[in-house]
Amino acid sequence: MKTLTMTWQDSVAKEMLDQHLVKEIPLSPQRNYASMIVLRECHSTAVLTTEGTVLDVELVRSGEEQEDLISRVVLQKRKQVAPERRTGRAFNRQLEVGEKCDYMNEMCGKCPDCLIYGFAASKGEGAQRARVMTDSGFAIRSYDGMQRSITLNAIKDTSAGGVAGSAFAEREHIRPQVFFPTVESTVDVTSAEFMYILRNILTTTRYGAESNRQGYVKNHLVAVLFGSGELLSNLSLTQKVYDRLYAKTGDKIHEFPLSLSEVTEATHSAMNDALEESYLPFDRLVGEDLNKFLGNVRDLWKSEEGNQLWQEQLKSDQQEYISNRK
Ligand SMILES: [Zn+2]
Repeated sequence: MKTLTMTWQDSVAKEMLDQHLVKEIPLSPQRNYASMIVLRECHSTAVLTTEGTVLDVELVRSGEEQEDLISRVVLQKRKQVAPERRTGRAFNRQLEVGEKCDYMNEMCGKCPDCLIYGFAASKGEGAQRARVMTDSGFAIRSYDGMQRSITLNAIKDTSAGGVAGSAFAEREHIRPQVFFPTVESTVDVTSAEFMYILRNILTTTRYGAESNRQGYVKNHLVAVLFGSGELLSNLSLTQKVYDRLYAKTGDKIHEFPLSLSEVTEATHSAMNDALEESYLPFDRLVGEDLNKFLGNVRDLWKSEEGNQLWQEQLKSDQQEYISNRK
């Protein structure tokens, strides 16, 4: 394997992020936003149910121009964040950071996960509000075309011979190649912290129930927007994307799986439209610049030294914040 020598300090990625993000974590909100527009693409069947056997759906308008009502499968907010936090926490454990942090019982209040995604107050330590914001995502097309019921034949292995007493359960699954256009926003994070959140998004591949067996999701980063607010909601983004795809294909939109390239193109166009409507200015990281940024990020994460230096920066950013906060 090729070993890359890289430093975080003079990486292109850091340079690009430093132009927009805060140099230190502010004690009071500055509303320095970075929004990642992410297309979440299911690569296998996935179970997106809150409880029970039926997919979470919501009745909404298909587009902003197309106003007919459709039922859309919903990718709940916590179903996006929870797996991404788990990725980050596992990464921290590898680095022996926040090992005592117990997500279910007592959070440490000091590790990157607590300080970035937030934690509730416990015993004397102040709480931290989340600096990553997400919302539930919506599938582009209607529910009818993308769900499939799969009967699970669970044989009770306790019964004699393992034959008698089969239990049948039917669960609705989402089909592969369904896209959820989503925006994940960070607020008042440093460049090193942004990299931590980005790593969790780009390297998490399992979402939904029974994710050890299915639910492979590929996250495609389409753009990053820097500004003092949020540009648009997930629903609005999805509706704008739908309008663009519908304008191209009409009712045929429901017939075949969508392609990544057409959804990406529609997402760019939807974003540009929202930028024109916006009252606030945004800087965007897209196209060749985004490719350059992501290429540099890959090199950095593959380099032991690069990783280490980035981690050191993350640690010092957060330690400074903890001591300033007191
Ligand atoms: Zn913690």
